[in-house]
Amino acid sequence: MLFSPVPKSSREDFFDREAELESLQRFLKSDAPLCLILGLRRSGKSSLLRVGLKEAGMPSITLDLRVLEEKLRPSYADLLDLMSGELSSFASRRRGLAKAILEAFKSVEGIEVEGLRISFRWSGRGAVRLVDLLAGLERAFRASGTVGVVAFDEAQELAAVPGLRFDSVLAYAYDNFSNLKVVLTGSKVGLLYRFLRFDDPKAPLFGRAVWRIELPYFSKEQSLEFLKRGFEQVQLKVSEKELVEVVEALDGVPGWLSYYGFLRVQGLSHEAALSEAKARGVQLLLGELESFLRLRPLARDRYAAILYALATGARRWSEIKRVAEARLAERIPPKNFTELLNHLLEVGFLVKENDGYTLPDPLIREASLRLQ
Ligand code: ADP
Ligand code: MG
Repeated sequence: MLFSPVPKSSREDFFDREAELESLQRFLKSDAPLCLILGLRRSGKSSLLRVGLKEAGMPSITLDLRVLEEKLRPSYADLLDLMSGELSSFASRRRGLAKAILEAFKSVEGIEVEGLRISFRWSGRGAVRLVDLLAGLERAFRASGTVGVVAFDEAQELAAVPGLRFDSVLAYAYDNFSNLKVVLTGSKVGLLYRFLRFDDPKAPLFGRAVWRIELPYFSKEQSLEFLKRGFEQVQLKVSEKELVEVVEALDGVPGWLSYYGFLRVQGLSHEAALSEAKARGVQLLLGELESFLRLRPLARDRYAAILYALATGARRWSEIKRVAEARLAERIPPKNFTELLNHLLEVGFLVKENDGYTLPDPLIREASLRLQ
């Protein structure tokens, strides 16, 4: 079904992403070690990853790092927790490979293997290092004559884990592994790039070529087509006028469009489904904005004022600044103001267009107006 509230796992349910899927397939078959899947929130990254991995039929482990975003202070132990959960479920899905993995892990410091149980030591001396863990997987895949994938979904969240040199880990994997490929997805594209420092000559990943796949939001035409096809599929009659209204309200955000359709399929009227989809979206976005602001308590009022300015239609640097300052009843030093704008850009709550700045998703407008 095209309409659902969760990431897709089959091509038939996944609308119009053929080129991106082909690109991911080519990457998985290639010798390239590292792939980035980039796109704003709810553009379909996790879906692309799942469909692509499933079709390739390669052994894979996906870590959903959004759980780290919800924590005030995510730790290395949280990452290992996630890893051990995914490894166990992987081992039970792929019994054949499980043996090779247990074997490869026996010699890794910080990993204890007891029968089928794997446990990690995560603190102090002798803690397991991520790079050794991945190297263990690489050995296991090589020993089994196969190539496997480890995917870090929303990889920028690892930037908040203290002591983790993720860029060094990736550089090591890039240079040394031939049987383990890495896929990273990121909603906060600017943050991911700053974190991985591909452009910094002093950084471990400098100059490495990466396979990039970008997932833009749908255009107006694509959005209408998506809704039409979805309703055809479930043989539900809807009027053109309703569809146009939906696309006006939700724009081309696949996640919101899909959720609206899902609610209609459940029997909600057009009005009820649209208002429910908006309400749920705004609630999710408020949570995401709060996670962002919680880490920046001193600048909170300024961010809120900037988002308010954008939500009320300001587009140009000077205009946004003026509206935000009026709302705050204080001046924001120009340098600081630019920093705040750049930070919003980095995390994808804001996008740059030729004639200025704008909110990428109409529901961010709503959420911004509600921000206290
Ligand atoms: P992301 O990982 O980028 O945040 P997801 O893959 O979780 O996005 O997709 C968000 C929602 O939108 C999911 O419910 C998914 O089923 C739906 N969706 C995204 N892209 C498509 C698409 N091309 N066709 C159908 N549904 C989609
Ligand atoms: Mg996702």
